[in-house]
Amino acid sequence: MTAGNSPYNLMVTDIDNTVFNWVDYYVTAFNAMLDVVAECIDSTRVILAGEAKEVFSIHGSIEYPFVTQEMPSVNKFYGDDIDAMLTGAVRKGRNAFNLAAQPVMRPYTNVIETLEKIRKSYPALPIVALTDAPRYVAMWKLNKLGILHYFDAVYGLADPRVPICLTTNRIKLDNEILLKHLQQMNFGFKGKIRILPDDYEKPGIRGLKTVLMDYDLDEPIDRRERVLWIGDNLRKDVGLGNLLKIRSAWAEYGADLPPALLSSLALFSPAQNIHKNVYLKSNDLNAPKPDVVFQDFSDVLNELSVVK
Ligand SMILES: [Mg+2]
Repeated sequence: MTAGNSPYNLMVTDIDNTVFNWVDYYVTAFNAMLDVVAECIDSTRVILAGEAKEVFSIHGSIEYPFVTQEMPSVNKFYGDDIDAMLTGAVRKGRNAFNLAAQPVMRPYTNVIETLEKIRKSYPALPIVALTDAPRYVAMWKLNKLGILHYFDAVYGLADPRVPICLTTNRIKLDNEILLKHLQQMNFGFKGKIRILPDDYEKPGIRGLKTVLMDYDLDEPIDRRERVLWIGDNLRKDVGLGNLLKIRSAWAEYGADLPPALLSSLALFSPAQNIHKNVYLKSNDLNAPKPDVVFQDFSDVLNELSVVK
């Protein structure tokens, strides 16, 4: 049985660089934060970027949200005075991040209109987001982008670990933030939330396989006609779709990134994250081949309406 009058039973999409320009958003917001933190503790963006890189490596995520309170220079400056740290560098940095993120955190052209049309034309078609970002961070982003409510389910990795001061055993978080963390804030989302183990990260097949199993599509028979999977990364997303014998759409527009932005990202991103979070276009003839290439997110509408 198909969903509405679409030939598909399920649509799964990646988030970063597929529904919005993650690199532009994160580099802009993170640099703004680093500048303010540097000002608070009399350091520099370059020094703190290097420290952030280390923290991200330890926590296994470039989007570890409590990075400021784990930076050695920040800890050295404030010592055991956690309150001063939280009301100083941490809060000011977070405010700068959010302020800088606002103008750049926009879905790609036609994303909202397209999701709206899918919801209207194919109300029974489940739309699922699958990401390697921590679940909380993924939902925070979808909520800020104003598109969380279009999804039926969000699949992400485990929520970030709470930072603790080793000498005082104090949690280095404002009460308000800690509460959100403990309550596993879901932004009023009515759909399904699934937290995947860290080793389910793409391009391993287990995350997407879990989605397929949850929607009773674990048998590979006819799956290429029944499941549409969209991602910007040929190696990670398309390769994964090919392994699972589902129809893979490559969001080529998401792989179009200016070199200056990528060099700026490289200053605070662990090397493995550059490859993880960004697909660099190349002439790699061995790159996995998509079933269809999207030049715009709205190309999904043709895909969903065409009987193959
Ligand atoms: Mg992506």
